Amino acid sequence: MILNIVKYPEPVLSQPGEPVTEFNAELRKLIADMFETTYANQGVGLAAPQVGVSKRLTTIDLSMGKDPKDKLVLINPEIIFSEGRVYEEEGCLSFPDIREKVVRAAKVRVRAQDEKGTWFEMDGEDLLARCFQHEIDHVDGMLFIFRMSALKRDLVQRKIRKLIRAGEW
Ligand SMILES: [Zn+2]
Repeated sequence: MILNIVKYPEPVLSQPGEPVTEFNAELRKLIADMFETTYANQGVGLAAPQVGVSKRLTTIDLSMGKDPKDKLVLINPEIIFSEGRVYEEEGCLSFPDIREKVVRAAKVRVRAQDEKGTWFEMDGEDLLARCFQHEIDHVDGMLFIFRMSALKRDLVQRKIRKLIRAGEW
């Protein structure tokens, strides 16, 4: 099922998600729906708060549905190590058509649970590292515009307010 993606400034996007404690059929259904929703929107990652569910869960697939091996589910994730610094363009399904450069670590290691509740660690670099950081920010209630410079953030927020007034957001 394709879920509705909530857009900024919906309050759920700014709330830290609740830890996932039940690894059941309901969770698996949410995960499947999140992947389907990501592919329908040509995205590479989605966090539960973006579909209005305030939980610490994110789904990532850099292949955009082309390679099942690329499907990643991170539950209750945290970054346990990071290094380097890169400044690259980034987008977000909760901010349609907005792309801006954001500083991120070049390499990160995440610790998370899979859909059965088993803890694992995984390293990511380049786009995967960026994706891990962007999505884990979401489960913490942090949005990429707050990683931009104040000047850029003001411009983006002004643009969004204008679109909202015009009924185009
Ligand atoms: Zn996002």
